[in-house]
Amino acid sequence: GARLVLRDVAKRYGDVTALEPTSIEIEPGEFFSLIGPSGSGKSTLLGAVAGFIPPTGGHIEIDGDDVVSMPPFRRNIGMVFQNYALFPHMSVFDNVAFPLRLRKMAARDVRERVERMLATVRLPDMGKRAIGQLSGGQQQRVALARAAVYDPRILLMDEPLGALDKNLREEMQFEIKAFHRQIRATILYVTHDQDEAATMSDRIAIMNGGRIIQHGRPRELYEHP
Ligand code: ADP
Ligand code: ADP
Repeated sequence: GARLVLRDVAKRYGDVTALEPTSIEIEPGEFFSLIGPSGSGKSTLLGAVAGFIPPTGGHIEIDGDDVVSMPPFRRNIGMVFQNYALFPHMSVFDNVAFPLRLRKMAARDVRERVERMLATVRLPDMGKRAIGQLSGGQQQRVALARAAVYDPRILLMDEPLGALDKNLREEMQFEIKAFHRQIRATILYVTHDQDEAATMSDRIAIMNGGRIIQHGRPRELYEHP
């Protein structure tokens, strides 16, 4: 995983401030969550790191490289969304292979990597399945596999479990933790579920009104003496 540093990253839309100047440093391999109510600036911060939302101020560094002027696909960041954003007409294998084929990886290497990744997310032998034949949890695991298959330096997850029912959500929290231990990417995770963040994260930043109002380890934030 990479070290991710934000220095005074800000975003305004005309008179609307989506993100006040915000600074955070996330360590290599850390699982870092952003929580906060709707409209607090979480997606804006994530979008700035991913490259979809150009900030109006500040610097973003990944392992010391300034990435603000770098287009999204060159940042080497993987993304997982709430709605999975899988290609429904492609097989599981081809979904996971997609980022590797984009990068012109040789077919044999594609096969080896995809098979390894499918084993990591506990979907071995499912490569030929159609996306529509999978359960919600299985589709989310395919999305994890696709996001991580090219060894991205950072994985961004925007409410990845938001579409799942409560039981499945708890199961997938453990899945994602196990997955994180195996791939060791730096993870920036957005949720509005405080318990989920506390269970999964090394550190949490609480956002409100476009700023981080508090941050720390789950114990520091939620256990009161
Ligand atoms: P969250 O992800 O925490 O729900 P967002 O980052 O989406 O919050 O939004 C932060 C603030 O920025 C909100 O007040 C939202 O209305 C505003 N905002 C987001 N995108 C735009 C946009 N394209 N134009 C104007 N205001 C926006
Ligand atoms: P080859 O070099 O043998 O042609 P490719 O890696 O180019 O193999 O794959 C060709 C097609 O076969 C892919 O588009 C994919 O749909 C399918 N495929 C390959 N490996 C698997 C697998 N392990 N599971 C399911 N489908 C696979």
